[in-house]
Amino acid sequence: MAEKSFLVQRFAKLQLGLYHVIGYSVAGEETVVQVPELNVCFDIGRCPYFALTSDYVCISHGHMDHLAGLPYYLSQRYFQGMKPGTVFLPAELEKPVDQLLRCWRDVERQGTPFKLVPMRPGQLYEVRRDFGIRAVATHHGGPSLGYVLISIREKLKQEYMGVPGPELVAMKKKGVEIQYRVEVPLVAYLGDTTLGPVFDEPDVQNAEILLTEVTFFDADHRNKAKLGRHTHLEHFLTLASKLKNKNIVLIHVTRRTGIQRAKRILRKRLGDEVMKNIHILMDLEDAREEGEVEDAGPPPADTAE
Ligand SMILES: [Zn+2]
Ligand SMILES: [Zn+2]
Repeated sequence: MAEKSFLVQRFAKLQLGLYHVIGYSVAGEETVVQVPELNVCFDIGRCPYFALTSDYVCISHGHMDHLAGLPYYLSQRYFQGMKPGTVFLPAELEKPVDQLLRCWRDVERQGTPFKLVPMRPGQLYEVRRDFGIRAVATHHGGPSLGYVLISIREKLKQEYMGVPGPELVAMKKKGVEIQYRVEVPLVAYLGDTTLGPVFDEPDVQNAEILLTEVTFFDADHRNKAKLGRHTHLEHFLTLASKLKNKNIVLIHVTRRTGIQRAKRILRKRLGDEVMKNIHILMDLEDAREEGEVEDAGPPPADTAE
């Protein structure tokens, strides 16, 4: 049994309010984080099986540990008879990634369809009338973006409260603006980033769930954080007062420190009260083995063997 579990990759599965956060994230190795209820996967890592079920993938930047599995994700979905995946990515990466995916078509001799959506900081892509994905600039050296999943709601203006329904319909037909738009940030994912203006974005500060990296915890890793443009615990501590998120999930912890040690250092610095809302994704107390993570896997295709 022990030997078997050593060979099986374990994934995290957290339930935070209405949403699950499923994934795997270790610095330099693999990062993939899914929110199944919102049909979105942030980065794709090596494309573990559960990631196939998300129709939307948001790529934060071009490092291999975050996007190696992209051709596999698209190819498998096609092979399994699922609709083509939609991939959001920094606009600067559109061309090289497009070339990469076309090469794969030739290599694999399969006309895998894909849809790339180039994104720029601040841009909002409305997936549906009531749901959008906004890109925010992050700070990792090359082109990099974070993404915020936004619930878009139309609300009746105060002055029209109590007006009977048919009258409201008539007014709307005449072109009266009886509603106003409310955007509620549900989940923000920042990928790899060091400190910077991204943490002043209202969407980032107020998202119900914030997924952000803290790669380094040890004092003698400060220089590594600086060189790689990653977040060190000392940076993160300076943010605590401005982040209003119900839950913060830390990702991308280096193996050099190890999760249990990182957790102890974090608890010591932040205190038990603050730690109630802060989770380390790979703190695998509630981990599932590969194959146990997805309750609803992709539908088996006719062609599946
Ligand atoms: Zn990384
Ligand atoms: Zn990176």
